[in-house]
Amino acid sequence: KQTSPAQCEFYQAVEEVLDSLEPVFAQTSHYQQQAIIQRMVEPERQLMFRVPWVDDEGNIQVNKGYRIEFNSALGPYKGGLRFHPSVNASIIKFLGFEQIFKNALTGLPIGGGKGGANFDPKGRSDGEIMRFCQSFMTELYRHIGPTTDVPAGDIGVGAREIGYMFGQYKRLTGRYEGVLTGKSLLWGGSLARKEATGYGAVYFANYMLEDRDDSLSGKRCLISGSGNVAIYAMEKLYQLGATPIACSDSKGTLYDESGIDLKLIKQLKEHSRGCLSDYLDTHPHAKYTPRDEYPQDGHAVWRYSADAAFPCATQNELTQADAKALLENGCTLVSEGANMPSTKEAIDCFIEAKIAYGPGKAANAGGVATSQLEMAQNASMQSWTFEQVDEKLKQIMKDIFTTANDTAKEFNQPGNLLLGANIAGFRRVADAMIEQGVV
Ligand code: NDP
Repeated sequence: KQTSPAQCEFYQAVEEVLDSLEPVFAQTSHYQQQAIIQRMVEPERQLMFRVPWVDDEGNIQVNKGYRIEFNSALGPYKGGLRFHPSVNASIIKFLGFEQIFKNALTGLPIGGGKGGANFDPKGRSDGEIMRFCQSFMTELYRHIGPTTDVPAGDIGVGAREIGYMFGQYKRLTGRYEGVLTGKSLLWGGSLARKEATGYGAVYFANYMLEDRDDSLSGKRCLISGSGNVAIYAMEKLYQLGATPIACSDSKGTLYDESGIDLKLIKQLKEHSRGCLSDYLDTHPHAKYTPRDEYPQDGHAVWRYSADAAFPCATQNELTQADAKALLENGCTLVSEGANMPSTKEAIDCFIEAKIAYGPGKAANAGGVATSQLEMAQNASMQSWTFEQVDEKLKQIMKDIFTTANDTAKEFNQPGNLLLGANIAGFRRVADAMIEQGVV
């Protein structure tokens, strides 16, 4: 911490994992003897590069690009690219670190990586987005490949951006191969990839509830975000008989007691890239809270009474005060669609209250798992049906839940899925690293 004070998100992610591993280290000195932690917290490789491009006014713009290839013990580096003005080396590093354990939990052969740029796609024309993506790939292409490093989307990177980056990769290399996932269905994408993270977080929630002889049916739910993960979490909630009553974006929070009109949200966010406040034009009874009216110590979306919460926007978006408000208002389940959305203090509240808490690296692993299914389809030149992919996704989410739950029981902390997920992910990666020698 003293040598790199600017890496606060990375330290937060590492501390969470190390806390969970204490019972493992108390049981055996095997991993310490192999210096596994020292090796695991050091990325195999970190790339930082200049991304110059020309905007519509003819001005030259420069952004910072990143790719972190963190751990390849289990397979090629796999993890998304994030385009957001808040992106910095610490955020990419924490995301890459989380990705190692998440990917291990899927049981699939994928290592951990992450990347992105401090580029803000908001308000940019299609032409500007394309020129940025082309410039980004002009540097990145030399570091990636279908058996080495396979990036995907994340915040600010959807099918459009993946398309522009794939086009540039193909042009630079002359190769048509599965080097990116989250591709369009027209040319190599997988059915159900777009839905996978949101659906997966809801499947995970349902497995947590099943274990408590309960289900999502009839539950009222709060969702943060209104992007890819949030939209498909809401879709699956409706399909399972639950009702999403609130969602948010970076500008504000929307509350609709009668249930969020998902068709309208898709229209506003997927098609016109508009604002949540426009929802009120169609549904004047709904309530919109702009960001500057949020409580000082947290976020408006968590202050409504509900049975379940699905943080699906960004890191550290659910504070201790938010967690207390959720618990006081009767919330008994939190399933994280986003990466590290709850602060450490918020997680402590959930664990202490013994509610069903699904940490991001387990609950949102459906996205990367389905990306791996896209890689498998590309490599074998096949396309599976939506039902085939969805069935595999459901089974993977069930297996992740069972693995985390059984591991928590093994260490005498039944129900503590944070501990179970961290230990299970760690052991798979650590054991593979040891078998591969000091590399
Ligand atoms: P999108 O860009 O599609 O959506 C992000 C949503 O979160 C938008 O509603 C955005 O608001 C909001 N948001 C982003 N940053 C902030 C912020 N700083 N403060 C408040 N709101 C914010 O991204 P995704 O849905 O793909 O990703 C959401 C989360 O899920 C991220 O944590 C990501 O790492 C994680 N995740 C995503 C996976 C995937 O498959 N896409 C896989 C696993 C995890 P606005 O529209 O105003 O920008």
